[in-house]
Amino acid sequence: MAKKAKEKLVWLECSVCQNKNYTTFNSLKKEKKLELNKFCMHCRKHTPHKQAK
Ligand SMILES: [Zn+2]
Repeated sequence: MAKKAKEKLVWLECSVCQNKNYTTFNSLKKEKKLELNKFCMHCRKHTPHKQAK
């Protein structure tokens, strides 16, 4: 198994309730933080999810 891109597991945190609802892989090359619109089961709606540190 050859490692291609270095990626790290990051949490996606709801920007409304701060709950960490999703995990994703983010390339270490990308300095920019991820921000995705995801369904939050705590807010029971779609909210912006930001990459937690
Ligand atoms: Zn939420």
